[in-house]
Amino acid sequence: MTGSAKDQSGSVTPMMAQFLTIKAEHPDALLFYRMGDFYEMFFEDAVAAAAALDITLTKRGQHLGEDIAMCGVPVHSAESYLLTLIRKGFRVAVAEQTEDPAEAKKRGSKAVVAREVVRLVTPGTLTEDSLLEARAHNHLVAWSEIRGETALAWTDLSTGHLSVATAASAGVGPLLARIAPSEVLVRQDLEAELAPRVEEIGAVTTPLGAASFDSASAETRLTSLFKVGSLDGFGSFSRAEFSALGAIADYLELTQKGQLPLLRPPVRETAEGVMAIDAATRRNLELTRAMDGGRAGTLLGAVDRTRTGAGARLLEARIAGPLTDTLAIDARLEAAARLADDPPLRERLRETLSQAPDLERALTRLALGRGTPRDLSAIGRALGAAEETVEMLGAVSDPPSDLAAAAAALSGHHALADQLAQTLVEEPPALAREGGFIAAGVEQELDEARRLRDEGRRVIAEMQATYAAETGIASLKIRHNNVLGYFVEVTATQAAKMQALAERFHHRQTLASAMRFSTTELADLENRILNARARAIEIELALFDNLRDAVLAEQARLAAAARALAEIDVAATAALFLDEERWCRPVVTGDRAFTIEAGRHPVVEQALRSRGEGAFVPNDCALGAEERGPAPLWLLTGPNMAGKSTFLRQNALIAVLAQAGFPVPATAARIGVVDRLFSRVGAADDLARGRSTFMVEMVETAAILNQAGPRALVILDEIGRGTATYDGLSIAWAVLEHLHDSVQCRGLFATHYHELTALCERLPALSPATVAVREWEGEVIFLHEVRPGAADRSYGVQVARLAGLPERVVTRARAVLDQLEQAEREGSTPDLLSSLPLFAAAEAPPPRAPDPQPDPVAAHLRQVNPDDLSPREALDLIYELRRMLD
Ligand code: ATP
Repeated sequence: MTGSAKDQSGSVTPMMAQFLTIKAEHPDALLFYRMGDFYEMFFEDAVAAAAALDITLTKRGQHLGEDIAMCGVPVHSAESYLLTLIRKGFRVAVAEQTEDPAEAKKRGSKAVVAREVVRLVTPGTLTEDSLLEARAHNHLVAWSEIRGETALAWTDLSTGHLSVATAASAGVGPLLARIAPSEVLVRQDLEAELAPRVEEIGAVTTPLGAASFDSASAETRLTSLFKVGSLDGFGSFSRAEFSALGAIADYLELTQKGQLPLLRPPVRETAEGVMAIDAATRRNLELTRAMDGGRAGTLLGAVDRTRTGAGARLLEARIAGPLTDTLAIDARLEAAARLADDPPLRERLRETLSQAPDLERALTRLALGRGTPRDLSAIGRALGAAEETVEMLGAVSDPPSDLAAAAAALSGHHALADQLAQTLVEEPPALAREGGFIAAGVEQELDEARRLRDEGRRVIAEMQATYAAETGIASLKIRHNNVLGYFVEVTATQAAKMQALAERFHHRQTLASAMRFSTTELADLENRILNARARAIEIELALFDNLRDAVLAEQARLAAAARALAEIDVAATAALFLDEERWCRPVVTGDRAFTIEAGRHPVVEQALRSRGEGAFVPNDCALGAEERGPAPLWLLTGPNMAGKSTFLRQNALIAVLAQAGFPVPATAARIGVVDRLFSRVGAADDLARGRSTFMVEMVETAAILNQAGPRALVILDEIGRGTATYDGLSIAWAVLEHLHDSVQCRGLFATHYHELTALCERLPALSPATVAVREWEGEVIFLHEVRPGAADRSYGVQVARLAGLPERVVTRARAVLDQLEQAEREGSTPDLLSSLPLFAAAEAPPPRAPDPQPDPVAAHLRQVNPDDLSPREALDLIYELRRMLD
């Protein structure tokens, strides 16, 4: 390889020409160009990668008169760099050397080693454990639109799951939010339209040409992906579904470069089978991701006590997609209840599961040709755990359907488990190419090769003893040097004896004091020692392939076993909550009941407990839809900090848990299936998209009013607070009337507008409720108890004092409030300026000296009319004012 991109004649060097050709095929990916022990990057790739990875940017020669920027990462630690790049939204094309450099040399001194992109690494196509979170899914979605029909196909390459669903236009958002992909494939011409919606859920958009989404060629792609003659056995799919599945297959071919993963046949999901929860509601309720993107503080974080990565992923999928089918929900709950009845069995199951490796992911890596000896060993140990689990489940008499199905899937893997256990060493190395993973005694030839490799010295010593005996020369030695290799050496005085044996000992060298000989045997032995290592590795690799084939031949059954282990893990976790946490088994019904007795907020309760801040106060909630039962809508008023938001959210979370088939934090719960869940809180600014707080809030409220139906559960927390009081009140009023009269859903509505309680008299299905507080010596004591009725006041000033506002400000606020309340009682307009002179003399701060010069910031600010400003202009103004201050 030359050191410069330009050779002496000034033209582009062959290496750079090769780089540019490969790069041209992958313009939107960083190209990792293999050079010896490094992956090098050049030009803009190098600049971008050096900045993203915080590594040194150097130069390597020139191209067309310009320096070539370069940076590189060592091959052995490339994965951690890859991970950083993928997390930062890059795609990486990995170009490997595909021939031995010695071969290239034979073609001429300037010949370049052949290189090819062997893999395109993108956020949605990762499979390595080091690049993946063990306890979370990593989904790739293809979003297809054909003549008004929308279909999503999604796969988790690391586990081989593939699903597809058709969604009505209002259902796409909730479905996409449930899948929570890291990468979404869209047709190029739809990119501008769809990319913002993909961005909203934090995924990367990858545009593909229309041909990738062509539904007609999808069939060919899918038959080759699944290695089947026809897709008939998979059921029937619509054109949009075919198109989405085909796009996934096409993209896998593109990124995996022919190493097609063995995906499970596509499972068709119907949007109807799952509670629809849009992205805003998920964010708001922090179901599986907290506002900061992490897991701490989420519902999933509060209930995830699973023992395996696959169990954690299954639980996440269940929380993200609660069911609407009451029978399926009850089957999950029944499995949990049976394990709750037998705590010792449950603990033994959990203990066994905690030892079981990730069968699902190991299996997929093997199928992709990226498997290692550790993956084989992991599968063997997981199958061992499966057999133990089956035995334990045998103790459950008359097992419920979910446990029985899991036990069946876990049975019958003895033979493969034994084969793996007997063939592999206890702790195999991470890579196959170094060998050392096949146990001793498996293959005679391998044992022999290893013996030679490891025991070369001993074998030589044995041979030396034999030769000494044969020749009668006790001082005969076998030595080694780089020129002769192994040779027999005797002192010069013994030369005559050796010459008599010239047929056997071939003379090689005479030195002053010694003579050296070789023998055919010794040459053979040398060859065998040198080759032994290579031969041992060769045999091991062949055995690796055999084992891999044996595993892949059972792939479908193994995948079912992996799923069953995850199900038992989740059922045992649910049982733990029923038993140790005293959560209850909810009853999910086909009517529109919603009765929660002594419900708690799972996350807040745990937080209070871990901070030692006392017990959570349980509260009932009864939203009925029957004629004489409780009203389906509650209007909740109460002071700040009383616990309104907590109460609202806890009921939504209980509905999610119940329909996920999980116990709920309450003493009893009866829930009529919720088909759509909405939760909104006076929203945060979305300046990046040019929407103000109020605008976001109204867009989201509009979505609810347009989409919610009678089976929906709607949680609205302080809707309308983002604008002037009267506008906000009017909007809240009208929204409440609409929910009551037209939508007729179940719902909880928290507000600080006490005026709204008047509506309870007019709307029969609206009940007032309040969170109680007690006032004691001017202080407010929070009881956190929800009761029927309306709050009389807000206690905002008292809460402000608790928050540490200076006493002077609190006293002053109290005085302003008194004036306002008095005016309201008298029906007059408060005249704050005259009735409240500046701070009373006794409290007045020392007079401030007049400003020596007019303040330019204040002067500038006075010229601004806030109503004329867009949020973006407001932000710019703040920067400008800040600059003026500096
Ligand atoms: P604001 O009107 O100011 O938004 P809020 O009425 O919505 O307040 P929350 O945010 O729900 O009040 O609750 C405030 C705090 O009170 C919580 O962070 C929690 O620590 C505590 N809390 C709420 N509900 C309960 C409860 N049932 N038992 C014990 N503590 C509770």
